[in-house]
Amino acid sequence: MRDMDKLKTKIRTIPNFPKPGIQFKDITPLLLDPASLELAVNGLVQPFRDTNITAIAGMEARGFIFGSLAARELNVGFIPLRKPGKLPYNVKSVSYTLEYGEASLEAHSDAIKTGDRILLVDDLLATGGTARASCQLVEQFGGTVVACAFVVELLSLNGRSQLDNTHTHSLITY
Ligand code: AMP
Repeated sequence: MRDMDKLKTKIRTIPNFPKPGIQFKDITPLLLDPASLELAVNGLVQPFRDTNITAIAGMEARGFIFGSLAARELNVGFIPLRKPGKLPYNVKSVSYTLEYGEASLEAHSDAIKTGDRILLVDDLLATGGTARASCQLVEQFGGTVVACAFVVELLSLNGRSQLDNTHTHSLITY
């Protein structure tokens, strides 16, 4: 079996979670298996090993898991992009529209400098709203988003189209 097919066997689909109609992609079986975790982290960073990434930013909460492992792999720092009210120091923030209502993400004001080359990491690309907002947040600081990397991409929602010209990398598609 190809590596990414093996990885796919470690993603569990839970119908109607957290609400009716959503097919939730549960990555916890993948996290439990060290060989799969290694495949996923290597796969996420492989295209970016020689691209002078200066830091990885990960979206709360599952982006923290893959993002910090990916940062260790590239030997760069990790920036948590958090839900409002969680970060203790001065923050910059971005608001975006969800299917129902509004959401925001925040980063510490000293987390990114002008000219930084950021790789965004999350577990899953769905509609692309979260990733698009994360790109906008990085750009507020004067940083460049070199690429967005995801373990899972839900093709039917066409999240890539939200990310315009940003390089989008995913390991497993549905
Ligand atoms: P979106 O902004 O629509 O691209 O949604 C992406 C964010 O929501 C990611 O942080 C995912 O963890 C989470 N998410 C959205 N849809 C799903 C799904 N079907 N299964 C698991 N997580 C999801």
